[in-house]
Amino acid sequence: MGIIDFKEIKNDLESWELFAQEFLSEKFELIDPPSIGPDGGKDLIVKDKVSDFLWLVSCKHFAHRNSSNSVNRSDETDITDRVKAKKCNGFLSFYSASISSPLLTKLNELVDSKSIDEFDLFNSARIERELINSSAGRILFQRHFPKSWEKYCILIRNTTLSNFIPKKDPQFLYCENCSKELVEHSEDAKIIFIQNKTSNVVEEIAISCNECEEEHLKFLNYGQADYNYYFYEVNDLKMPTYYHLQMNNFMKDIWSGNRKYTNHTFDKFNFVMLAMGQLVYRKTTEDELQRTFDLLKEFNKIE
Ligand SMILES: [Zn+2]
Repeated sequence: MGIIDFKEIKNDLESWELFAQEFLSEKFELIDPPSIGPDGGKDLIVKDKVSDFLWLVSCKHFAHRNSSNSVNRSDETDITDRVKAKKCNGFLSFYSASISSPLLTKLNELVDSKSIDEFDLFNSARIERELINSSAGRILFQRHFPKSWEKYCILIRNTTLSNFIPKKDPQFLYCENCSKELVEHSEDAKIIFIQNKTSNVVEEIAISCNECEEEHLKFLNYGQADYNYYFYEVNDLKMPTYYHLQMNNFMKDIWSGNRKYTNHTFDKFNFVMLAMGQLVYRKTTEDELQRTFDLLKEFNKIE
């Protein structure tokens, strides 16, 4: 199982082709819009931007098939005729699934016998690799596979930060009432602040899922007239610019004295921002990580 669920692209050939056009436009020029091929399928024609080589692109969206979804020999008919009819040089498979070995053998045979000049294969594994490994690819990844993208971001979160979080299971935020995990379920979570109106001191911060919000407020004894209550949606803190602005506000508040923190709420705010930072900061390289540890050692921050 790969990271990307190709079923996120609707189960119709047109949607898959639109994705193929966008994906291939990085390297290829689109010559011919899709047309119905002899087997009822549709083919695209693209030209290599460097070599001018013409490819007939066969798009197959088999990710939604229930059982074995690999593309079989019987799924690709009249390959040579299709390539020749469109005056192309090579055959390019663009599949949301894997390719069966008989079909792979057949395509190799067609090249060996010079029936076609070349073939190239974009199967689900290769498409996934290319979507992950370039910034242009990641833009497409995010747009066409939003659910898989969400999972991917959690998978690559910057766990190196966990070294600085003094908690048993530091990668995650948990609801303090029901223990629901809140980084992965961030759409359903808040960081609640209770501030004393007279002293401007933030006296309590609660990490809460939405269902437990009432429970938390009771516990925090909120409702007394001299307290202000405000919150951040955890989902919003995942957005880099917003995250940065809130860190900035935190510093401004302390600098201006508009808002004060107790030792406890100061530490808690830092914990929340470190946990969320795992999703916001880019991945640290090995060299950068080593340099970070060296710097911290210098300042006697760690052993
Ligand atoms: Zn809860």
